[in-house]
Amino acid sequence: MSRSVLVTGGNRGIGLAIAKAFAEAGDKVAITSRSGEVPAELAAHEVLAVKCDITDAAQVDAAFAEIEEKQGAVEVLVANAGITKDTLLLRMSEDDFSSVIETNLTGTFRVVKRAATKMLRARKGRVVLISSVVGLLGSPGQANYAASKAGLVGFARSLARELGSRNITINVVAPGFVDTDMTAVLSEDRRKEIVAGVPLGRYAAPAEVAAAVRFLSSDEAAYITGAVIPVDGGLGMGH
Ligand code: NDP
Repeated sequence: MSRSVLVTGGNRGIGLAIAKAFAEAGDKVAITSRSGEVPAELAAHEVLAVKCDITDAAQVDAAFAEIEEKQGAVEVLVANAGITKDTLLLRMSEDDFSSVIETNLTGTFRVVKRAATKMLRARKGRVVLISSVVGLLGSPGQANYAASKAGLVGFARSLARELGSRNITINVVAPGFVDTDMTAVLSEDRRKEIVAGVPLGRYAAPAEVAAAVRFLSSDEAAYITGAVIPVDGGLGMGH
């Protein structure tokens, strides 16, 4: 059955792979980004691209209203949009810290809250948050990012308890290092260092993260909520 799916940050990287996976499975897919562009990779699918900066509550509300009108209330929400502003603690400005929290954590709160209004009424829904192995493992130079991604776990687990009786599941996917624009900025030396710590000895492809997201949104995953699913090649084992 075709569902109404929203993937935030669905225009590139991991979000694009997730949007493509849902579209290929026959779902109605909306993507948001700050530009509102439709990436070439999705041209073959009828994907609804909506301009929405998740740091702005009015834009979030307007985006949901457009999606509800064009493809129905969101039944599957993938909160994927996120940023990094890496630097060591003593060089980290208040803005470096708060802007990452504002996008990754508060932005996710905004979209989940807006989606939950309709899911509660429908008495069903699937929410998947994209966190990171870094949120649980920590990473030097990423205190802001790690705090935002760890915050998503407490957020999701609280909502799993709050919304479970209404048949709404909320889970977290924690990718390791994935080949996207976000990791393209890392030096070759840093990349080698990271890969050396990954039992599977490589970065993930965005589609490998998308597969876990699709599973958590499927009927087969109906009894999974409040879970943190690593897709990290074994990097975070034991955390
Ligand atoms: P990219 O940098 O390739 O893409 C980031 C996406 O987030 C873009 O679509 C971007 O849209 C969107 N976005 C950022 N800020 C905003 C905003 N304020 N409002 C709306 N959309 C916004 O990143 P990835 O694909 O690599 O990452 C996707 C998610 O996965 C992120 O949450 C990231 O933290 C997480 N992750 C990534 C890992 C990796 O190794 N790549 C590992 C673990 C987790 P726009 O085009 O408008 O900028």
